[in-house]
Amino acid sequence: MVFIIKPKVGEAQIGNFVKDWENKGFSTILSVGTEHTAVCLIGNTAAVDMDHVVETNDIVEYAKRVTEQYKAVSRTVHLDNTIVDIGGVKIGEGFFTVISGPCSVESEEQIVQVAKAVKASGAKLLRGGAFKPRTSPYSFQGLKEEGLRLLKIAREETGLPIVTEIMNQTQVPLFEDIDVLQIGARNMQNFDLLRAVGEMGKPVLLKRGMASTIEEFLTSAEYLMSSGCKSIVLCERGIRTFETMTRNTLDLSAVVLLKQKSHLPVIVDPSHATGIRSLVSPLSKAALAVGADGLIIESHNDPSKALCDGGQSLDLLQFEVLMQELKIRAAIEQKQL
Ligand code: PEP
Ligand code: MN
Repeated sequence: MVFIIKPKVGEAQIGNFVKDWENKGFSTILSVGTEHTAVCLIGNTAAVDMDHVVETNDIVEYAKRVTEQYKAVSRTVHLDNTIVDIGGVKIGEGFFTVISGPCSVESEEQIVQVAKAVKASGAKLLRGGAFKPRTSPYSFQGLKEEGLRLLKIAREETGLPIVTEIMNQTQVPLFEDIDVLQIGARNMQNFDLLRAVGEMGKPVLLKRGMASTIEEFLTSAEYLMSSGCKSIVLCERGIRTFETMTRNTLDLSAVVLLKQKSHLPVIVDPSHATGIRSLVSPLSKAALAVGADGLIIESHNDPSKALCDGGQSLDLLQFEVLMQELKIRAAIEQKQL
């Protein structure tokens, strides 16, 4: 159940209202937006008479039942769009933010060269896998700690914040100095990892599981938020279907639905969604057209030699051309790229 508080009610009054409910045995989520503040009750609310609460508390504008499993990430509880701020780089309403870089960090020369090039083309964050979740144990598994070190060098050289995947809770201490922690598709329902990363309080890029429903995706985001993470970016990266010609099937309707159901920003990964370089550019434009808040795109200085996902990576010139095309379209959508 959620109570929307009237405008201009003071913090102390809201605090007393919250305390009353907690004394009755409920947990609460306090959601403070620019326009609205909401108090969400967690617990068995079946016996709570909503109308009575509204009538007897003049700070409450209206009440609504929240039937979804996810509450803190729900738009019912938080009406304003959340804009995630990563050291001044914004993802959310009014922006179209592009993250780019190689699938895996391979060497200092590679990551620094790619970082400089994607920055010059307009990318605002650098991606690069250090710990790689690979289907085969015999495939390149990433440079691990060394990969994190090289990412930090690339950050120093360019000023781009870095996004990289954490695979399990034992890695938490290694990620203290990482700007955005990626939780990959394979780990979207690793609940212990979600909790541990949520407790770190750092920005998180949460990718949709390849066989996860939109509701499951949002409920995983709820794990993060209820553990303390305020800055979550959702990422649609394609789901498994009967189609074999593409690596996955990009579910663009999910982007629209996620934004209707949740206040969190949503970005699209056309690289893993398709697995095919020539599809990345058209689907990037489609993502912008349906209202995505940004993209994460794999790029490489020499895709033919990439140790991972070369076939879906743009070379640096292709990335630059795509960014030019996106800039024109972002301006029409009144989004800052
Ligand atoms: C990745 O971004 O490198 C990756 C492995 O993505 P996903 O988890 O979406 O497969
Ligand atoms: Mn990849």
